[in-house]
Amino acid sequence: MHTTDPTTGKRIKVYPEFSLRKVDSILNRAEKSFQSWRLLSFKDRRVMMMKVAGILRRNKDQYAKLMAQEMGKPLAQGQAEIEKCAVVCNFYAQQAEHFLSPELIHTEASKSFITYLPLGIVLAVMPWNFPFWQVFRCVAPTLMAGNAVVLKHASNVCGCALAIEHIFKEVGFPPGLFSNVFISSPKVKDLIEHPLVKAVSLTGSTGAGMSIASHAGAVLKKAVLELGGSDPYIILEDADLEMAVETCVNSRLINGGQSCIAAKRFIVEDSVFNEFEERFTARMQLQRIGPPLHEGINLGPMARHDLRDHLHGQVQKSIKQGAKLLLGGAIPLGKGSFYPPTVLTHVRPGMVAYQEELFGPVAAIIKVADEQEAIQTANDTVFGLGAAVFTRDIKRGEQIAAKELQAGCCFVNDFVKSDFLLPFGGIKQSGYGRELGELGIREFVNIKTVYVK
Ligand code: NAP
Repeated sequence: MHTTDPTTGKRIKVYPEFSLRKVDSILNRAEKSFQSWRLLSFKDRRVMMMKVAGILRRNKDQYAKLMAQEMGKPLAQGQAEIEKCAVVCNFYAQQAEHFLSPELIHTEASKSFITYLPLGIVLAVMPWNFPFWQVFRCVAPTLMAGNAVVLKHASNVCGCALAIEHIFKEVGFPPGLFSNVFISSPKVKDLIEHPLVKAVSLTGSTGAGMSIASHAGAVLKKAVLELGGSDPYIILEDADLEMAVETCVNSRLINGGQSCIAAKRFIVEDSVFNEFEERFTARMQLQRIGPPLHEGINLGPMARHDLRDHLHGQVQKSIKQGAKLLLGGAIPLGKGSFYPPTVLTHVRPGMVAYQEELFGPVAAIIKVADEQEAIQTANDTVFGLGAAVFTRDIKRGEQIAAKELQAGCCFVNDFVKSDFLLPFGGIKQSGYGRELGELGIREFVNIKTVYVK
């Protein structure tokens, strides 16, 4: 395995893959540590998790630089990501006891209650796009619930994986309670089947989700799947267009467009279509593109060359199918996996840009006649992660978000984001299970009924 700087195309470092024998010894060490960790009080776990937050904040710049080098994230966005990780660690450090305290239920028994016990080792298979955040939003609640975690990170962010492992070592967590393993994705199956692994959490593509779900299903192990999306943003005729355009562009381009909950399809009512299209395209043009380590850059290179080429292929196919290119759409000369902000309009059902996830800075604009067609178009997708609607009529927006849109996270007049206080996850091919909030910490626990006659 190796890491490559997407700005220069130069290899950074080679990491030998672990043998299955080595993985087995890591799992045995994690299990031993789990047996002591599960008995610790929430207070003791809290102290350690808060130290994790402290280290994250102290080394914020160093981690942001690492992400910039390994996957091209602009520095300021990397620093914000690390801060978000520190916040989620503190949140679960402080709230885990409240979320997982035993609950008395009055029945015919002399005493009956629900208690929440850890499962054991949870395998976390994580993506490269938010190399710290995706890991911490899974790991903070999972560890605070008393579990152990073995991380299989994406192969192009091995340095981030080691940096995260080092944080838990530095704090003094039991040896191997949080462990990194360098294995290729075909070996994930062996880990899922390992008797010491009790559950698996994947954040990644729908294809990886289907594979992991089938392996976990074959051995009946719990899985949480946070997968891809093609989030629709509906712009109704009464929307505040200035605000809608700004929010839509920010949501499309955050993290270079490489976010599961980035806005991907813009579904615009006929009467405001031309104005939206014009203003949106003008704003997409205003980005400062360049090396992610340079001050003030907000669009770096895409994380890998092959991902950039795949995205370009999707743009070309969509144009062949009849979409109109308004901006971008050409691979720039020079090194690095850069791709320009790109706008496709007159996107229609059946086109690649309508059906597939566009994981980069490419927007698909779709014209619809009215609200009903907008909702039908928004839901006309195999995905169901996030969705948003823009309207000045808040009641109407709330109604559409709450009752009509088929997705796990539906927003009105704002872009879809993950908030540690709220559950996050999808439906349909965007996966199942939830992270964050109170529901997130209840995914990897045994919800046990105790009945005393
Ligand atoms: P990916 O290719 O699916 O990889 C994600 C992780 O799964 C990596 O660790 C990868 O390892 C591993 N993996 C890939 N194929 C696998 C397989 N068949 N069996 C077992 N493990 C496998 O996804 P990505 O390109 O890193 O990330 C982008 C995708 O993640 C997008 O579709 C995005 O929407 C989705 N995502 C979803 C969320 C969410 O919360 N719903 C958040 C972020 C990203 P290797 O790197 O070694 O292949």
